[in-house]
Amino acid sequence: MPKLRLCALILLFSSFTCAAFGQSGSHHALIVMSIDGLRPDYVLKADEHGLKIPHLRRLLQDGAHAESVQGVLPTVTYPSHTTMLTGVWPEKHGIYSNETFDPYAKNLGGWYWYSEDIRSRTLWQAAADAGYVVGSVSWPVSVSAPGVRYLIPEYWRAMTPDDLKLLRALSTPGLMNELEKSEGRYTTDLNDAIPGDWGRTRYAAALIRKKHVQFLTFHFAALDHLEHAGGPFSADANSALEQIDNMVGVLEDAIRHEDPAATICIVSDHGFARVDHILNLDQEFVKAGLITLKTQGNSLALSGVADWKAEPWLDGGSAAIVLKDPKDKATAARVKQLLDRLAADPKNGIAGILNRAQIAQLGGAPVAEFWVDMRPGFAIGSALEGPLVREVSVRGTHGYSPTHPELRAFFLIAGPEIRKGANVGDIDMRSIAPTLAKVLGADLPAAALPALNIFTSSAK
Ligand SMILES: [Zn+2]
Repeated sequence: MPKLRLCALILLFSSFTCAAFGQSGSHHALIVMSIDGLRPDYVLKADEHGLKIPHLRRLLQDGAHAESVQGVLPTVTYPSHTTMLTGVWPEKHGIYSNETFDPYAKNLGGWYWYSEDIRSRTLWQAAADAGYVVGSVSWPVSVSAPGVRYLIPEYWRAMTPDDLKLLRALSTPGLMNELEKSEGRYTTDLNDAIPGDWGRTRYAAALIRKKHVQFLTFHFAALDHLEHAGGPFSADANSALEQIDNMVGVLEDAIRHEDPAATICIVSDHGFARVDHILNLDQEFVKAGLITLKTQGNSLALSGVADWKAEPWLDGGSAAIVLKDPKDKATAARVKQLLDRLAADPKNGIAGILNRAQIAQLGGAPVAEFWVDMRPGFAIGSALEGPLVREVSVRGTHGYSPTHPELRAFFLIAGPEIRKGANVGDIDMRSIAPTLAKVLGADLPAAALPALNIFTSSAK
């Protein structure tokens, strides 16, 4: 049945009003909740891990899901979230990593916070053009996002209470002040992981209830944070997911109260690997004279960079290698020799060195000449002092090539137009945005792949 007629029927036969659904009256709500770092096995093998996640398990039964999602190169948060919102790889949307490339170490560790760096049309714009009231809470790369009427972007600076003053200025004018009165304090301190996610949940629920947001993107950060600290499936990570499951329930209730025919989507940006060794790659580039320091410190940021010819752009489980002059064949050859030598020693933990053609096949940053991909168990560090390879206490990371099974992400969607119990197996992350565009009845022509085959026969 067309949505317009369904809505008209509801108007006729119940006291329910369509006022929440915007001017056209034809929209049904969609909430996309991203659980950062959620491996599929947290949900699909919840019993094996002793996890109590009733809301996610019910959504799994009620909806369609992918057993795994192959993400992007690198499997880090900002490029992945942008792919889920645009349907294209980083090489097209332009968000190549979490941190911007900063060869002289001058940008104070700044991230790709700003939506003006996204070069492709987003679902926010597509939904706004289709007449939706769009909201977003703590979604990556959302500062000044076009199309978002009620915006609280993900942003931090020093993780002190002063950050809130900046966040108020970056959010929709007056919104944070208004919500603070009823929903309590917001925090940008990632170390306050679970209370932070609860605060974001309360603010998002308020946007649904008070502002009648019909398309909301939302980002849970606590699971990823605790997986970095103690590895995937640690007691703290499991307990964080159980809390997040409660928050999923709160947001589901809020949106279903506004629109009983709302669609609920759960995504994650990447999986996670357990790590107990670090390869400090930068120091080899300094030793080889490819990076010249200003003074001697324990990292490029602490030393300062006077000049460089080739430099790693670190992503946790991998690193892009960028040449200052992409046409400098002599430097490219020296870098290849250095990387081949490191990769030849299994103690260094390098899984492979990707060349330009292999990087292009995975849609990674076109500025990278090479890409160093680690074996799970090994991460890349930035220390200039101490040994090249260091054993560390068990922790977790991501950022490897998306081809590793541990790095697969998750996708689940439930709603009236979604086939109950459908399992689409292993999917490409680029198919998520066109699928969500179809739910919205919105237009995302640049998406690289078609929508997933998860819709009921009556869906448009
Ligand atoms: Zn992430």
